[in-house]
Amino acid sequence: SLPIVAIVGRPNVGKSSLFNWLAGRRISIVDPTAGVTRDRIATTLYAGDRYFDLVDTGGMGIQDVDNLTADVERQIRVAIEEAAVVLFLVDVRDGVVPLDQEVAERLRKIGKPIIFVANKSDDPKFDVSGADFYRLGYGPPLCVSAEQKRGKEELLTEVLARL
Ligand code: GDP
Ligand code: MG
Repeated sequence: SLPIVAIVGRPNVGKSSLFNWLAGRRISIVDPTAGVTRDRIATTLYAGDRYFDLVDTGGMGIQDVDNLTADVERQIRVAIEEAAVVLFLVDVRDGVVPLDQEVAERLRKIGKPIIFVANKSDDPKFDVSGADFYRLGYGPPLCVSAEQKRGKEELLTEVLARL
């Protein structure tokens, strides 16, 4: 089976949008409401002569959208059990919120390669906001925009370097 790259992050940071962008088509459900991705969704990607499975598990089976911790727990479990590489996603426009801190701490313990990615950097002027994320302990994030399709090459380069 192929190595799995799992997208992990609190609801609404754009995990499903990132997934669809990298997949090149709309597979995962994107919704402005938190916790709408009901199923675990995977797609096989080919880049730099390598194949891997990209997985979006955010919000999977969530009934109670207020139970954000349960959502994160589920994602972390998938990451621990299956991922070769984890994409830890935050929202450059929201900045650091407490749930990002919780995800950061949980991921630190799993001992897998983490790529720290700040989404919603729709314009290069937002990239500087990424500096605020330094305090999560993963260095500066790679700033991308799923909506404006910014940073795909850089992101795939990081993934390939860790597969
Ligand atoms: P998820 O809960 O982490 O899977 O997040 P979604 O992919 O469902 O996206 C949550 C919201 O953020 C939706 O309203 C998206 O349209 C929006 N969004 C996702 N990516 C971007 C982006 O790059 N820029 C902006 N401005 N909005 C985005
Ligand atoms: Mg989603």
